[in-house]
Amino acid sequence: MTDQLLDRTSCPLCMTSDVRQFSNLDGFRSSICNACGFMFVRDVATASKLNEFYENGYCNERQKLGQKVNATVNGNVFRRFIPSPESKSILDVGSGYGFFLDLLRDIGLSRRVGIELSNHERRYARTQFDHELYGNIIEMSDDDRFDVITLFEVIEHIPDPVAFIKALRHHLKPDGTIIIGTDNFASSVARKLGDRFPKWIPHEHISYFTPETLCSLITSHTDLELFGNISFTPWELYAHQMLYIVTMGRLGGIIYSNNEQMASSNRPYRNFALRLLFNKFWFNFMKDDNLEGEMMYIAAKAQK
Ligand SMILES: [Zn+2]
Repeated sequence: MTDQLLDRTSCPLCMTSDVRQFSNLDGFRSSICNACGFMFVRDVATASKLNEFYENGYCNERQKLGQKVNATVNGNVFRRFIPSPESKSILDVGSGYGFFLDLLRDIGLSRRVGIELSNHERRYARTQFDHELYGNIIEMSDDDRFDVITLFEVIEHIPDPVAFIKALRHHLKPDGTIIIGTDNFASSVARKLGDRFPKWIPHEHISYFTPETLCSLITSHTDLELFGNISFTPWELYAHQMLYIVTMGRLGGIIYSNNEQMASSNRPYRNFALRLLFNKFWFNFMKDDNLEGEMMYIAAKAQK
């Protein structure tokens, strides 16, 4: 991944070149825009390298179990923003192994469609579930429209979020809703852990959102109207923060290392059964109607 890197010198959100460097993690420099505050990785892989990474390499048991746990939280977010899902169609972008769409199987949706780049994950979903699946947005018919489009932990992987959100907006029906969930890099736990915040993964997470930049992605670049916020901080990150505090910054969090990240796909996903049971209860207990937590979700609507 590190052999062919582009050098991005202007802000992908507002296009200005008035940017400054704020970090360098194992050779990946990141910049912040002086005009709009957007944070982004400056050294990113080429589009073809990124595609190859997600199409052929982005799958393992750890990903699979993590997605199964996160699907339960995403299901709760969906129900909060879409209280009457009956007869609605949904497009889940970054549908992975398909667990989230499967959770929605008995609530009367008219259509469940997923887009997933990873060939392996898409194959799994195709074999296990009855979703309609595409490998890419351009494989879909241009006039296909949906009542709901969801992006859970996707937008931080996208090099050009403005073009991406405009392409998705095209597939939204009048009165349709788009739901975006991503990490909040201005959250309290991110600020406390600094470079040790484990979500700084610059070969994957290349667009770092804050509440302001996530909202401005919608309000400045689409005609959609924001109508809902939810956020919470996962208990795993509180545990990192606690360890960081009691060891006075020696432990807790993770300092990014490209080699370690590449090798980490073999790491086991710990406490799967506990997380599967506990994480959605933690979400329901901790969630708030603001964007202050570490995981933030916004919902925006198209005009009728
Ligand atoms: Zn900017």
